[in-house]
Amino acid sequence: MKIVVLIKQTPDTAELPKVAAEEVKSGTIKATMVINPWDEFAAEEAIQLAERFNGDAIALSVGAPGAVDALKHAVAMGVGSAALVDNASLRDGDIWATAALLAAAVKAQGAVDLVLTGKQSVDDNSGTVFVGVAGKLHWPLLTNVIKVREIADGVVTVERLVEGGQETVSAPLPAVISVAKEINEPRYPSFMGIRKANKASIPTLSAGDLGVVTPANKTQWTNIRKPEVRRTQVNIIGGATVQEKAAKLVDALLAEKVI
Ligand SMILES: Cc1cc2nc3c(=O)[nH]c(=O)nc-3n(C[C@H](O)[C@H](O)[C@H](O)COP(=O)(O)OP(=O)(O)OC[C@H]3O[C@@H](n4cnc5c(N)ncnc54)[C@H](O)[C@@H]3O)c2cc1C
Repeated sequence: MKIVVLIKQTPDTAELPKVAAEEVKSGTIKATMVINPWDEFAAEEAIQLAERFNGDAIALSVGAPGAVDALKHAVAMGVGSAALVDNASLRDGDIWATAALLAAAVKAQGAVDLVLTGKQSVDDNSGTVFVGVAGKLHWPLLTNVIKVREIADGVVTVERLVEGGQETVSAPLPAVISVAKEINEPRYPSFMGIRKANKASIPTLSAGDLGVVTPANKTQWTNIRKPEVRRTQVNIIGGATVQEKAAKLVDALLAEKVI
């Protein structure tokens, strides 16, 4: 069985608030870049499924040359091999163009049975790339998956998390699956894994190598800005007794028309 896992490189979440709108516009983000945290769950699941069904796991990313480090993280975790798709043809790339490149890269791997993805990226946050990939491949899509129950006779059966419940769904292979964080506990790369990843050869493919023309964007980024900073004020309500403090608090809430 061949399993592809899609890995995006994103800024470290601790540094996301520091990323300026200009950096996003120019594509030169200065923050520390890491594997998208949601994609660690997808990588872990790919490793476990490859072990369970005696298969191969391959990590793919569309990104700048530095995105190879996110792929190395997946290899250090235990994913067998990886390839980077150069995003040079994706100036101001949108979801559709990204999905087109990823789908072409999946096809280039041969007879793939499953594509695993995270539920969203922590930077652009659209949670839609897997929809585009499944659409481009014409494969069924199973989202928000918390357990792969069984893969047998060309059918995958999963449990999905839905609002207030769970459901069990089956789809014919090949299929695309986006995973939720409840699916597993991603492992830390081992020392041996890190050494293996550092020695691994990770090819970089261009759109031309994949035999595709990157589609024109369907969406344009017209305005990227930080949200307004919220100004808040803290009043410490004093008083000799709890009753006095409570009475002052009620007066203050009435004055502000909160109650
Ligand atoms: C102003 C602006 C300019 C941009 N310019 C460029 C640009 O020039 N070039 C460019 O490449 N991007 C560019 N992007 C980013 C690009 O549009 C998005 O990263 C892309 O559409 C993916 O959307 P998302 O991050 O919301 O992914 P989501 O849909 O939230 O991701 C869901 C899952 O899909 C998979 N996935 C998503 N993206 C990738 C990926 N790149 N590789 C592998 N797996 C992935 C992961 O498994 C992820 O967990 C730009 C974004 C903005 C805001």
